[in-house]
Amino acid sequence: MAPASKTLKIDGKDISIPTGLFINNEFVEAKEKAVFGIENPATGEIVIEVQEGRADDVDIAVKAARKTFKSKEFKEMNPAGRAALLHKLADLMEQHKDELCAIEMLDTGKTHKQASNLDVPGSIGTLKYYAGWADKILGQASFNVPGTFSYTRREAVGVCGQIIPWNFPLLMFTWKIAPAFACGNTVVIKAAEATPLSALYMCQLIKDAGFPAGAINLINGYGKNAGAAIASHMGIDKVAFTGSTVTGRAILKAAASSNLKKVTLELGGKSPNIVFPDADLKKATCHTGTRIYVHEDIYDDFIKTYTERLQKVKVGDNFDKEVDQGPQNSKMQYDKILSYIKSGQDEGATLHLGGKIDEIAQKGGKGYFIQPTIFTDVKPDMKIMREEIFGPVVAISKFKSEEEVIDFANDTSYGLAAGIHTKDYERAIRVTSALEAGTVWVNMYNFVHWSMPFGGYKESGIGRECGDSALENYTEIKTVYFNMGLRAPDALD
Ligand code: ADP
Repeated sequence: MAPASKTLKIDGKDISIPTGLFINNEFVEAKEKAVFGIENPATGEIVIEVQEGRADDVDIAVKAARKTFKSKEFKEMNPAGRAALLHKLADLMEQHKDELCAIEMLDTGKTHKQASNLDVPGSIGTLKYYAGWADKILGQASFNVPGTFSYTRREAVGVCGQIIPWNFPLLMFTWKIAPAFACGNTVVIKAAEATPLSALYMCQLIKDAGFPAGAINLINGYGKNAGAAIASHMGIDKVAFTGSTVTGRAILKAAASSNLKKVTLELGGKSPNIVFPDADLKKATCHTGTRIYVHEDIYDDFIKTYTERLQKVKVGDNFDKEVDQGPQNSKMQYDKILSYIKSGQDEGATLHLGGKIDEIAQKGGKGYFIQPTIFTDVKPDMKIMREEIFGPVVAISKFKSEEEVIDFANDTSYGLAAGIHTKDYERAIRVTSALEAGTVWVNMYNFVHWSMPFGGYKESGIGRECGDSALENYTEIKTVYFNMGLRAPDALD
């Protein structure tokens, strides 16, 4: 029996959300009929229960994805047809963008501004961008090997397992499925257990857009179970993961000890943001990240401007249009952030602002609200300077020279991104070259675009998503040699 969908009233709108697993274009019950509850982080209340897939369900989805991948219709599908489907899905998202925005807000705790400025348009843009690539994926032709004509083909890898996190559920869903499908692969994807709702809604749109059955399959469930089953499945040819470095290691191990499936990983970060003395302080305090190095000449001014900015941040229910910062995504995340705040205090950093549960926002003790928090005088070996917190907690430190701050910035096992603020473009070019990070922002921070590669140096990952880099993740290169009848078959010259 197909499980029901549930209608939720979100932000005054009735929105119907399917609750099943999505296999072969149908919403189905999990084999073991298990379900799990999804919380509204602003209240801590369970708002919906969805089917919980486990290893058996992953297996069924992989078989469906394989059958579709091997089918004549799918193999011979005109790439322009795949482009048309991605465009159709993007159009349906446009038509339902208010619903997608509301679902994402309910599921993650994001504000309307965050979801409507970034998550929804970023996801639609990603689909359109990869629609554009679908019929432009080319190989090379060569006459350089004497006596032969040789060429390369870029072929789909096969069945792709994809595992995504809770912080950008909709965006990560599209970052994963769009390049995979554009290149002619089929997909078994798992959303994070805390935030599966936008992926479920997307599957309804995928079906409505007319994607072939079995092309995109969604198995929601827990990481240790459904996620681990994807990483170790012998029938999956490639796994793409976004999440923590700890889980990334587990996935790499599972891939190595199963079928050596191809792996791309987009992992954690602790991205430095460097503010030089000639920076525009207003801009520099706008989007800051959580590890900030400020030159000693402007340190006091920076802290003053930044503190004034954060004191104005209104924390509360993310559906309230006046609110700038909603709840943290889950109890687990909330507890983790509070424990980092405690560790900052225990290790001797100065708690300059915030640092507490936001009881005003909580209205009667409900929801996962934390005050915007600034630590100053943070030393390089403190946990809040080294580990990814994923919350409104900023660690600030002082520096004297360019050489010194480059060392500070690179003194991390991560290498996801970095930012610098300066008006001196010679310095900007020197410092961006010296930073060990996959993305560097100059006079801006925390910006990504689907058309440019994104991924990490060092323990922040393997491979790049977005841009044409993602096409490499989802294609195999085949080299074909034709003997033109002019060469001895065994001669190498
Ligand atoms: P975060 O710390 O950002 O929540 P996780 O790495 O725990 O990141 O989770 C990201 C995704 O990885 C989620 O979809 C989660 O269910 C999944 N996951 C967690 N553990 C495993 C695992 N052992 N194998 C595969 N996937 C996992």
